[in-house]
Amino acid sequence: MTVTGEPGQCESGRPYHGPPTTVTVTCCLDKHAHEVLDVELAAAASRPDGLVHAICGHVIAAAPMVAPDGPPCALCSAVMDVRQAGSRRTG
Ligand SMILES: [Zn+2]
Repeated sequence: MTVTGEPGQCESGRPYHGPPTTVTVTCCLDKHAHEVLDVELAAAASRPDGLVHAICGHVIAAAPMVAPDGPPCALCSAVMDVRQAGSRRTG
């Protein structure tokens, strides 16, 4: 296995490769399970309204943790597919 890196371009020290981490959050309004970036979840916690933006653009009113996950959001699934396809592309 060969891992190619460009040390000169990664001064922040954060890993540049790999898909972003997402968390599944069910919206209590549309009852669908949306994908939310973990950084967005953290940002929403510090906002006064506490609303979370899914990667599909939907604004989520998060359901209680005890609520079962709803059916997956089709648009979020499509966005994830595109992102994963893009991250596999090299050059
Ligand atoms: Zn969605």
